Amino acid sequence: MELTSPGTTVGVVGGGQLGRMLGEAASPLGIELIVSDPTPDAPAAPAVRDQVVGEFDDEATVQELAERADYLTYEIELADPDILEAVGEETDTPVHPHPETLRTIQDKLGQKRTLADAGIPVPAFRAVDSPGALRDALDDLGYPAMLKAREGGYDGRGNVPVESPDDVEDAFAAIDGPAMVEEFVDYERELAVMGCLGADDRRTFPVTETIHEAEILRETVSPPRAPEEVRERAREVALDVLDVMEGCGVYGIELFETGDGRILLNEIAPRPHNSGHWTIEGCHTSQFQQHLRAVTGLPLGSTARRAPTASKNILGDVDGRARARLTGIETPLSTDRLSLHWYGKREVYHLRKMGHLTLVAGGNADSESLLADVRDAAEPLTFQAPD
Ligand code: ADP
Repeated sequence: MELTSPGTTVGVVGGGQLGRMLGEAASPLGIELIVSDPTPDAPAAPAVRDQVVGEFDDEATVQELAERADYLTYEIELADPDILEAVGEETDTPVHPHPETLRTIQDKLGQKRTLADAGIPVPAFRAVDSPGALRDALDDLGYPAMLKAREGGYDGRGNVPVESPDDVEDAFAAIDGPAMVEEFVDYERELAVMGCLGADDRRTFPVTETIHEAEILRETVSPPRAPEEVRERAREVALDVLDVMEGCGVYGIELFETGDGRILLNEIAPRPHNSGHWTIEGCHTSQFQQHLRAVTGLPLGSTARRAPTASKNILGDVDGRARARLTGIETPLSTDRLSLHWYGKREVYHLRKMGHLTLVAGGNADSESLLADVRDAAEPLTFQAPD
């Protein structure tokens, strides 16, 4: 193993905030990134060597990335597994995680079937292709339930709760495409584990509690406010999930903790994930550096937590679309052990993820007080309409 200048180059499909934070993590390892994104000057652009402007599923764009890079990866599930696979083979460029894993994960139904077949505990689910099929499925599963588009959903878009038989027609119409339905989990908490597959090693980061509102992740805290045996079970399920995944890299594993302490898998992201942003300051190796180590075949780093850590997303709070201008940053920036991450998105709209705050505990702060402190620090933040 050796370091060179210029360093190893990794091509990344996607140049959003995940690409930006990958770029920030790449530098100390001497790794250079080239990202592709359809938006010129994407959030990742200032943190990487170069950006190729092109759609996530454009073959010529992926081809250019592969020709200029030693390894290929992706930070968005809209990448095209067929193109990644073909280009990877043609140019002899390793692609991680394996495109087959991306293919499985892109289809929420296929993902749940694969995991259920592997013995991973998941909420009860059914495939549905018509309002009639949905009604039949819910006669069996019961109400309420969550109807999910099989493909393309994120931040809860593509999910529709179905409260009663009266909702069936409208819910199905809202999805407008192939769907699956699953039991509504009356969870005690949502948890997440960032797992990592290296060339010959696998690791998990400490279990994180994730707090969603209207299906959008708002805050995380690690350790979670859950009993030790529940955390251990979450870790075991995450390790079982990693056994099903193919290819190196970091995987975001989202879980439900039920009222009786069971762990059910919600979904997997084959990439760094919002529930692992806290690892930048909170762990000895961040999820971003870990992903790059894994993809390039370097040894994985320690996933140990440095100290209890909470994070809070900075979400758009404006009507319509506006130029991004965040005010109130003096308070978080003046708070000890608090870090601000700004994603550099040019435009803000309601609930768009624009940045995040991370607060690392000093002394013996518990998860409850860390969450309260990071909320207080974020209180003055608000987007200001242009003059
Ligand atoms: P996305 O892919 O858009 O992130 P998810 O399927 O992960 O969508 O769902 C987003 C959020 O919606 C979850 O974090 C959870 O809060 C809620 N949710 C999803 N599925 C269920 C379910 N079966 N029961 C209860 N809540 C759910």
